[in-house]
Amino acid sequence: MFDTLSDRLTAALQTLTRKGRLSDADIDATAREIRIALLEADVALGVVKTFIARIKERAKGAEVSQALNPAQQVVKIVNEELVGILGGETRRLNLAKTPPTVIMLAGLQGAGKTTLAGKLALWLKKQGHAPMLVACDLQRPNAVTQLQVVGERAGVVTFAPEPGNGVGDPVDVARRAIAEAKHAQHDVVVVDTAGRLGVDEELMKQAADIRDAVEPDEVLFVVDAMIGQDAVTTAQAFQDGVGFSGVVLTKLDGDARGGAALSVREITGQPILFASNGEKLEDFDTFHPDRMASRILGMGDVLTLIEQAEQAFDQKQAEKAAEKLSSGQLTLEDFLEQMLAVRKMGPIGNLLGMLPGAGQMKDQLAQVDDKHLDKLQAIIRGMTPAEREDPKLINGSRRLRIANGSGVTVREVNDLVNRFFEARKMMAQMAGRFGFGGGGGSSK
Ligand code: GDP
Repeated sequence: MFDTLSDRLTAALQTLTRKGRLSDADIDATAREIRIALLEADVALGVVKTFIARIKERAKGAEVSQALNPAQQVVKIVNEELVGILGGETRRLNLAKTPPTVIMLAGLQGAGKTTLAGKLALWLKKQGHAPMLVACDLQRPNAVTQLQVVGERAGVVTFAPEPGNGVGDPVDVARRAIAEAKHAQHDVVVVDTAGRLGVDEELMKQAADIRDAVEPDEVLFVVDAMIGQDAVTTAQAFQDGVGFSGVVLTKLDGDARGGAALSVREITGQPILFASNGEKLEDFDTFHPDRMASRILGMGDVLTLIEQAEQAFDQKQAEKAAEKLSSGQLTLEDFLEQMLAVRKMGPIGNLLGMLPGAGQMKDQLAQVDDKHLDKLQAIIRGMTPAEREDPKLINGSRRLRIANGSGVTVREVNDLVNRFFEARKMMAQMAGRFGFGGGGGSSK
């Protein structure tokens, strides 16, 4: 998602970097490019107009003429304005002072509500809450079962009407669910409601009735980022019909233009709380306007990367490796451990995709392949502990044995061993030069 937009915005801004000073004409030309890029990405016209007007005004203002590097200044302005239309500050979920917190999900059928209920439940559970899901979508034949399935996958309780009681009344189910949550001490209740393929009055009335019955702390409007301009009209209809306190964007992993998703916040005035980007329950996170903006501008999602790294890295292990590295004692065992730590963060192409400038390196990134890392891992695993500890032991006959054992060629084993020695030498030199760790030492 946002790839084309990102490419075009980066290109528009890049033409500026070649200029020393920016004239009003330069700014107008860039603004025009940005405008086209946003419209092509399906961003709503009104939003585009306001956005462009703000950029022009700020870029032509004093802050730019005084800047040493005007191009950078414009990038900064565009970034700030983009963060602005995405909502500015990260908006956290409102939790009730007296539990249970009630979160109601609303949106069209197929928007991803049921899936989201499971994702939210898992996310809440990981934060130490005891969530309960409530099946109030009694319209779609399989909706209750589907919710029960995601609930099971998330490892949480699902409250559903007893089978065999006919269609049932969703408002009654909602009421009983809240009572049950209090009784069973669930501190967060997530209410899934019915959606239709299009907006209709009956749907709105039912959602409003459920809302009145459960008095939610949050009503989240769930919207499929791939539905284009319809996202805006749907959002408006739900805002008028039910009202909501926040938005969840789903299917951000899709390849649609996604600009409508960028308009929802500006048009409804309600913040985007979460983003869903895949079919797995883990493909879900808090929405950070600043990170999304820098991602769209091709500056990379460095913050997300850092957060993921913090989760994946074992501090002690990293310190141990740094110590060994600086003294030239790094072994293949350490190398394997580090590689496994990095890979815990996800597919390597995804990680690299978050780095600044990654947008322009898409072709190269497509070639960075987890299979190559699998192979390196297999080779190291094919070595004995003694060989991993002291790779100098690995002579010709050992190389042949390792190659046969790990299903690669001798040449591939040679490559790995040679590159490891080179890297170890280089890292020890760098560590010596920058003065961290325990001093130079021999590297081979
Ligand atoms: P509901 O009708 O609003 O409850 O929507 P569902 O939760 O049943 O989702 C509709 C379809 O979209 C299902 O096939 C989901 O697997 C899929 N889906 C939901 N969220 C995402 C997402 O973030 N990415 C992708 N690719 N698919 C999703």
